Amino acid sequence: MSTVLELDRRHVWHPYTQHGDAPPPLVISRGSGAYLYDETGREIFDAISSWWVTLHGHAHPAIAAAIARQAAILEQVIFAPFTHEPASELAAALVERLPPGLTRVFFSDDGSTAVEVALKVALQYFTNQGEHRPLVAALDSAYHGDTFGAMSAGARGLFTDPFASHLFEVARLPDPSVDAPGCLAALDRLLDQRGEQVAALIVEPLLLGAGGMRMWDGATLRAMRERTKAAGVLLIADEVLTGFGRTGALFACSAAGVSPDIICLSKGLTGGFLPLGATVTTEAVFEAFRAADRRRAFFHGHSYTANPIACAAALASLALLDQRSADARDRIGHTHGERLARLARCSGVRHCRSLGTVAAFDLAGETGYLSPVGPELAAFALQRGVLLRPLGNVVYLLPPYCATTDDLDRAYNVIEAFLSRSA
Ligand code: PMP
Repeated sequence: MSTVLELDRRHVWHPYTQHGDAPPPLVISRGSGAYLYDETGREIFDAISSWWVTLHGHAHPAIAAAIARQAAILEQVIFAPFTHEPASELAAALVERLPPGLTRVFFSDDGSTAVEVALKVALQYFTNQGEHRPLVAALDSAYHGDTFGAMSAGARGLFTDPFASHLFEVARLPDPSVDAPGCLAALDRLLDQRGEQVAALIVEPLLLGAGGMRMWDGATLRAMRERTKAAGVLLIADEVLTGFGRTGALFACSAAGVSPDIICLSKGLTGGFLPLGATVTTEAVFEAFRAADRRRAFFHGHSYTANPIACAAALASLALLDQRSADARDRIGHTHGERLARLARCSGVRHCRSLGTVAAFDLAGETGYLSPVGPELAAFALQRGVLLRPLGNVVYLLPPYCATTDDLDRAYNVIEAFLSRSA
């Protein structure tokens, strides 16, 4: 056993891993473009962008250089009484690209903290104005992160069961990917009956990711925007997954022509190089916190808020989201369309769907996150040099934008081989 594996076996606790039955992890030595390389130099196509973060490819030289440059100038500084060039430039660059009206950037560490900030800002927005609105509304099948607020907003189930009694209640709306009219009707009822108690509606726009890559439509999102606006309820868009081009357009909200009051960003924000979260609000939300009264301040911050190196990585990543990147995303979407059409004819394949660079389908049989078919396919694919990580029986591809048609074909061929093996 290599030293790395031996030390890992003795001392490391991995995320989302049952150490009682998981095979030993694979040691990855380096990454380049759409590929990871293990200790023996074997290449693995990263078809899931390493938990949906890698945007332009692993070890992209422009981002690596920006990080090295910034690390030698200013690596970290407390962000309360200070500011710095990478943070202010990044805030401006984000505002320029986001749907109109989102103008104030609050930095944090990751997707979960970006969501925590959004929820806390929404609740305090009302208490600062003397209004009592304790309720948050959220979607069924949603996933917003693993911290307590984010878990509360997310759908309840396997991941949250041990903590159920510690989560706050939310008003739950039906999954719009299953029943969009029912979801809107439930929102109408909620706003009718308890509208004055609702602070915010939080949604993953157009794509419920970890809940099973469930896709829903822009018209429903626009209807939610109209209804929440009319009721004075804040709309929070969790674009931690969908942001930075995953659904084709730079942001899912932009594609739908929707401006939320608050948007949550992370994952691809730094191109997948460093952890960084951002919660961006409208000026109206920000104004409810600005006052002579210090008690109205937002008392929230993390040690590494707006880390200069992470901000420099994000600026370098944003610069790469140009027309070439948009063309690459189009090409990926096109390949998904072609290969899904083929897959749809295979027995055992259900509900092929895609949105921009994200493709998904369900495998017939046992459903749910603990369905054994997910790990079976993952192991089969890994042996053949493709990284997949199905969500139970939901298989998806979510590649970095540098993935070529050949790379994608390789992943789809492996999936087809798995299906014909088990047919
Ligand atoms: N929101 C969404 C929509 C996500 O997909 C995720 C992560 N999968 C999160 C929030 C949480 O992000 P993180 O894992 O960086 O805390």
